[in-house]
Amino acid sequence: MGRVLSPMATRSIYCRSCWYTLDGLTDRRCPECGRRFDPADRRTYRTKPRRHWWVTVTRRIGLFLAAVLMVLAVVYFWTYSRYASEQRAILGIERAGGLVTSKSIAPDWFLARLPARFRIYFTRVDLVLLQRPKATDSDLDHVVSLKEITAVHLHGATVTDAGVAKLKACRKLKELGLSGARLTGTGLRDIGTIRTLEKLWLNGTSINDASLAYLSNLFKSSRTGSRFYQCNRRRFGPSERSQGS
Ligand SMILES: [Zn+2]
Repeated sequence: MGRVLSPMATRSIYCRSCWYTLDGLTDRRCPECGRRFDPADRRTYRTKPRRHWWVTVTRRIGLFLAAVLMVLAVVYFWTYSRYASEQRAILGIERAGGLVTSKSIAPDWFLARLPARFRIYFTRVDLVLLQRPKATDSDLDHVVSLKEITAVHLHGATVTDAGVAKLKACRKLKELGLSGARLTGTGLRDIGTIRTLEKLWLNGTSINDASLAYLSNLFKSSRTGSRFYQCNRRRFGPSERSQGS
């Protein structure tokens, strides 16, 4: 008596209608219910034994919980690594004599329910004051690693074109204070590429009118009226009105 093997000899096959085990049958018909099958045609039999509904339900709940846990773990490690890298940046800024302020990045209702010690993971630095002569271009590496930064005030710091070139990486920068910086036209050209910029201070720099032309796109044809730059106590905005002394 010949033995009909399933396509994969190690795996059992089962009737599509009644889940009867069809291994080793010479007749291509289920002995239990009479349904025909063909070992060469995958569509005519099942490869998995019948399972109780609670096994299926338990398995699905288990998979769901595992997926939820995995998402929570990824969110936790992502949040924590962002927090840790930000703490390193803050430390570097403080060592250079600077200060930072932070804003929350989560909705208030969420933070209100969160234990106080976890709230710090949901804040990001949005403003840096680094206004000491000892602060140099290399200290700006800490500043540009802060992804949510919107305001950087470097008045009186020892900043040059090279430092300003780094600030191009700040994607949300709205305010930039560079009074007293050692800038040339090269630095101004880089500033002109920071499309999000709304306010810029260049007092006490040796910037000339020809270099200021690099800012014309940013501050003349701007979308909002609140945009301006101030250079050597003269204020320029979308309307090109000169304000102040
Ligand atoms: Zn059957």
